[in-house]
Amino acid sequence: MPKLRQNPITGDWVIIAPERAKRPDDYILPKPVPKKKTLEFCNFCQSGEAYQQKIPGAGTKHIYVVDNKYPAFVKDEAITLDTGKIYYSQKSIGGHEVISFVDHDTDIETVPTSYIDELFEVYQKRINFYNQDPVIEYVMPIHNHGAEAGESIEHPHSQLFASCVKPNNIVKELEGSEKFYHHEKKCIFCEIVKEEIRSGQRMIAENSEFVCFCAYASRAPFEMWILPKKHDVYFEKITAETRKKFADIFHEALKRLHRGLNDPPLNFYIHNSPRKDNFHEESFHWHMEIMPRLTRFGGYELGSGIIIDVVSPERSAEFLRKVKV
Ligand SMILES: [Zn+2]
Ligand SMILES: [Zn+2]
Ligand SMILES: [Zn+2]
Repeated sequence: MPKLRQNPITGDWVIIAPERAKRPDDYILPKPVPKKKTLEFCNFCQSGEAYQQKIPGAGTKHIYVVDNKYPAFVKDEAITLDTGKIYYSQKSIGGHEVISFVDHDTDIETVPTSYIDELFEVYQKRINFYNQDPVIEYVMPIHNHGAEAGESIEHPHSQLFASCVKPNNIVKELEGSEKFYHHEKKCIFCEIVKEEIRSGQRMIAENSEFVCFCAYASRAPFEMWILPKKHDVYFEKITAETRKKFADIFHEALKRLHRGLNDPPLNFYIHNSPRKDNFHEESFHWHMEIMPRLTRFGGYELGSGIIIDVVSPERSAEFLRKVKV
């Protein structure tokens, strides 16, 4: 029987309808063709133009940062408003960076975990950098892996979006968690962590500081969330020790997806608390969401905003737990 489930933070409904498909193993992709080694010419390799324009001091040993050539947010002095009778717009001010691995052949699933730790260290550095800019309302690091997940250049990289507005999904999560806090005097995310540990049904991995589980109201097969176990608002403030634990659990999650489903396309991103308005410090709790991109949205999803997930998160988690890592 299909079941409606509600995201306890945003209030969004999803339908979990496993009868419409499918067992988790229906999503195992054919074995991936070995990736091409370094191309003869790549803009993001050390001989390329992008690498030459790297931002001094922004990267680490294996990672460099460069402004996106086709930015969604641009650097500018002032926000100018363009207000009509009913339509409203403003200049898209901020920053849009490419956070690139130096080595073209870096494969995020198979690199040593220390590379992942470096990647997260760069995320922290760049968030801290943009937090000093009074125009910036929000900074979000994201990663696209595979063409179906929006990866447009083959050289492995993340991106960072620093915007003069709070993104729609963040506003929803901030408002939802505020509302819960107002009524319950508790952080909804801390409650979710407790419930996932208690039930264990959707759990994939756990270490001393983090949990990784399939989301209860999942929007896609194998959607995973990673949360700090202890209440924590700012990703950019976590210590090197905590970051190492985060890299460990994240890397394990990626390996389970990679080995279990043969390198599925996926996105991951960090939902962090905005730095400017610190009234979210009790109610919001930073986390990462990992979204494998194995299904597409149809008309009902677009028209209603209600997503139909054809694999239950319990079965997704059961499948992923069995993958040997
Ligand atoms: Zn390259
Ligand atoms: Zn919390
Ligand atoms: Zn979130």
